[in-house]
Amino acid sequence: MKTIDKMYVNGAFVTPHGTELFDLINPSNNQKIGEVVLGDETDVQAAVAAAKEAFKSFSKSSREERIAILQRMYDAVNRRKDELIEIMITEYGGTRQFCNNSIGFALSGISSVIEILKTFCFERKTGSANVIMEPVGVVGVITPWNSSTGFICSKLSNAIAAGCTTVIKPSEMSALQTDLLLQCFAEANVPKGIYNVVNGRGDVVGAEITRHPDIAKISFTGSTAVGKAIARGAVDTMKRVTLELGGKSPNILLDDADLATAVPMAVFGAYMNSGQACIAPTRLLVPQNRLGEVEQLAKVAVTQVKVGNPADEDTAVGPMVSQKQYERVQNYINTGLEEGAELLAGGPGKPDGLEAGNFVKPTIFTNVNNNMRIAREEIFGPVLSIITYKDEEDAIAIANDTTYGLHAYISSADEERAKKVAGRIDAGRIAINGFKHDPMAPFGGFKQSGIGREFGVYGLEEYLETKSVL
Ligand code: NAD
Repeated sequence: MKTIDKMYVNGAFVTPHGTELFDLINPSNNQKIGEVVLGDETDVQAAVAAAKEAFKSFSKSSREERIAILQRMYDAVNRRKDELIEIMITEYGGTRQFCNNSIGFALSGISSVIEILKTFCFERKTGSANVIMEPVGVVGVITPWNSSTGFICSKLSNAIAAGCTTVIKPSEMSALQTDLLLQCFAEANVPKGIYNVVNGRGDVVGAEITRHPDIAKISFTGSTAVGKAIARGAVDTMKRVTLELGGKSPNILLDDADLATAVPMAVFGAYMNSGQACIAPTRLLVPQNRLGEVEQLAKVAVTQVKVGNPADEDTAVGPMVSQKQYERVQNYINTGLEEGAELLAGGPGKPDGLEAGNFVKPTIFTNVNNNMRIAREEIFGPVLSIITYKDEEDAIAIANDTTYGLHAYISSADEERAKKVAGRIDAGRIAINGFKHDPMAPFGGFKQSGIGREFGVYGLEEYLETKSVL
């Protein structure tokens, strides 16, 4: 049992003004493993004051100074990555496989920014103007519980590279991993005031960050509903916003795809982070005349998906992060049945022998129509929907018939054909024949999946204001 009773402000661990306690629960068995003292508006104000003061000098810091800080951060996180992985597994039930990737994501989030910063042009000539890129100011960073460490590392790295200072509000469900991450940053000797961290509820701490007049920008990753609330709240002070939101990603198997490879990949992909991933390919679009083959292959693939203890090397699906999330996923599975979709695998209830935790049976629905709620709404659990299409035009139309536009996947034997289809899909990132991440490639959503981009040069530019001097 660990009690997190400190927040980090102005280079020191300090006692928050807020006193509310939030229980930290291991979702594999629903046992309490700790508690965190939640901060309040007064704590945000102290954090913003520290970030504002630090901005005065840090905004003038040299490229070399920022690179040195980032390198020390990278080294410190890398040194303690095994501890971070163990905490993630216990705290949110992430599988070992996923948490390993998640730490890789965090580290590449820092190292890619270092590479970019080495050559980034903060001053450019355009026409007769001298264009200067300046740090935007104090940045409010609000992160979700899934891949919390990764998002904090990449957002903070970009802020530092730009010369910004930050006030960070992690998900209250990530308090243990955040605590260790803060120890890493302290070991890295990141100068005071550059990052200030306040644990707390979204509608208290997050809302105060959103409205605070001394915060110039919000970088948020989370649900579309909260993203909209932040955008509304940010407009009064005209804050810049980067919003990385939800998704309902299509995975198009073109009629020439190698199904023996593509279908198992589609099944395992849909269950990444136990289905709790914004980029999970949850709508599998298959040619009508190959549905039988796909169903057969999917049925076999799902038997290979091991559900259970997330600490085991070969577990592919762990528990849902909370009982609330478990209930939500169950409701969607029941909704799918009521809507007339057919179960190919899984279904309501917990897998045998796993009743103590928030485990869901890896579920596949077939005979899904793209108008059903299970095809339109983000479930955030291990639920895959198989949808048939008539021809390529129809596949593209179904793929784009969604309010989201974060990610898409295409499988084909002909890469040029897949690229042409990719050109017609409304999504910020599209992967052909596999699941790929490149920290140099921009990432972000079309439509209601967000505003702005993270990663690569595009990610850094989100933290800069552009000034023309004529
Ligand atoms: P969430 O939106 O419930 O919470 C995200 C963060 O916002 C948390 O820190 C929360 O406390 C805070 N928050 C809640 N209400 C707030 C308010 N009114 N004002 C300010 N902050 C507030 O999301 P979650 O359940 O933590 O994470 C899952 C969601 O995140 C999914 O929808 C998923 O798709 C999305 N996500 C998106 C990406 C991406 O890169 N696009 C990546 C990961 C997760």
